[in-house]
Amino acid sequence: MAISKTLSGSVPAGRLSQDSDSIAAHSYDAWPVAVKWRQQGKQPCRPDAVARPRSTAEVRALLEDCNANGTPVTAWGLGSSVVGSPLTEAGGLVIDLSDMDRLISIDEANLLVTVEAGKRGDILEAELNARGYTLNHSPQSLDRSTVGGWIATRATGQFSSHYGGIEDQLVALKVVLADGQIVQTKLTPRAAIGLDTKSVFLGSEGTLGIVTEVTTRIFPRKAYRRLETITFDTVSAGISVLRALTRSGIRPFLVRFYDVDESRHAMKDPGFASCAMFLGFEGVQAVADAEYNWALGLCREHGGRAIGPAGAVGWMARRFDFSAIENVLARPGGVAETIEISDFWGSIEGTYIALKAALAPLADEVLCHFSHIYAQGTSLYVILVGQAQDAAAAEARIREIWDVAMRICLERGAATSHHHGVGLARKAFVAADQGTAMIVNQRIKSALDPNNILNPGKLGYAR
Ligand SMILES: Cc1cc2nc3c(=O)[nH]c(=O)nc-3n(C[C@H](O)[C@H](O)[C@H](O)COP(=O)(O)OP(=O)(O)OC[C@H]3O[C@@H](n4cnc5c(N)ncnc54)[C@H](O)[C@@H]3O)c2cc1C
Repeated sequence: MAISKTLSGSVPAGRLSQDSDSIAAHSYDAWPVAVKWRQQGKQPCRPDAVARPRSTAEVRALLEDCNANGTPVTAWGLGSSVVGSPLTEAGGLVIDLSDMDRLISIDEANLLVTVEAGKRGDILEAELNARGYTLNHSPQSLDRSTVGGWIATRATGQFSSHYGGIEDQLVALKVVLADGQIVQTKLTPRAAIGLDTKSVFLGSEGTLGIVTEVTTRIFPRKAYRRLETITFDTVSAGISVLRALTRSGIRPFLVRFYDVDESRHAMKDPGFASCAMFLGFEGVQAVADAEYNWALGLCREHGGRAIGPAGAVGWMARRFDFSAIENVLARPGGVAETIEISDFWGSIEGTYIALKAALAPLADEVLCHFSHIYAQGTSLYVILVGQAQDAAAAEARIREIWDVAMRICLERGAATSHHHGVGLARKAFVAADQGTAMIVNQRIKSALDPNNILNPGKLGYAR
């Protein structure tokens, strides 16, 4: 796919590049399969050019040109997707938003922040912290992902069990549609004026428009926190506690429960032989202490033993560290993958058992934890680590892992993704996951992007 001659007028010279370094930098995201491609010298997802706009007007000019010329367009935040979402199979233009990183305003009276979509998470968090506020949206990739990327992937963070996912934080957005029209949704605390337009773009993975500005909630920072580590003999007992917590109305800001295999890693103790749970409470001290005491009583009722805060404190200090997985992937034959799904309380234990058994032959270690809880169910995060002969064999193994995991989720009716999204990894499974909802999704796609220029071939949409 050739890039149109007129495109260069859309952004100032120097911000539209076709050099091999820029192209290579936008040919691989953090999907382990993409890591294996790079190690094999493969570059199957190669854009023809990369633009770095600095304003909504420039994004509009780029999209108008691409729409007129039928050029595929893929939005790029910081490429931290772990499923291949910002990788183009159709060539065309990548629009890298990461230079659009201004903090536009903080509205302290109404607890809102408005930023350009390319704002990096940790920088925004630090700017808010300096004023006494926090996002309370804290993905492990905070320092390598953008606010626009969070919206486009329907991301969630480590404190979601109390504060919710990005869908709960988003208040308004500005988005440029495929034909260049600019849409600003209204700022309101809540409204009942027809459809919730902003929600159309949540999880849309760049297929419906390019988000250029975002307004999200912010929160005053809490002064008091109390953490605890509790051990259980069985996964079953821990799941019962998580479910009972959601029923009680007590919502710790930190909830993580590991099976025994992952507990050894979470506790940094190879000899650790129980299932570890980390709980954290924050806010008004008397309330947080009361919640802590009640939750520990609940744990005891289910055979839990409090062993002190050290495990949870250690995890809080390491919570952005992904090096264990990255080190495995850095070896050509290294196999590592993370797959996050969700299921109802009534079936999550069976799904955990089925995934663990089916994936065991494909990895040296299959580690599992539960870390985002809801009244109806929970996420399940599976980490696989292993070794294959070389990068090609590792790629094949990772693909097999996806096939097995997705098939089990579909058979059991579980959600095939909890927060990483679809990208290329889950592309083949979207239609089966969504069923007749695909009729609505496809019609929205066809209406907003009739020439199918935006991240074509993704989210199960017809090409
Ligand atoms: C170490 C590590 C830890 C992670 N931890 C978490 C976690 O805790 N929680 C979680 O949810 N995810 C996590 N992720 C996944 C990833 O960080 C998220 O999916 C993140 O939201 C992607 O943001 P990004 O800015 O890097 O977007 P990219 O990866 O660049 O793009 C992701 C998708 O969004 C689209 N997109 C990006 N910006 C825009 C825009 N402005 N407008 C329209 N579409 C856009 C792209 O086209 C693509 O489809 C993790 C990833 C890594 C590598």
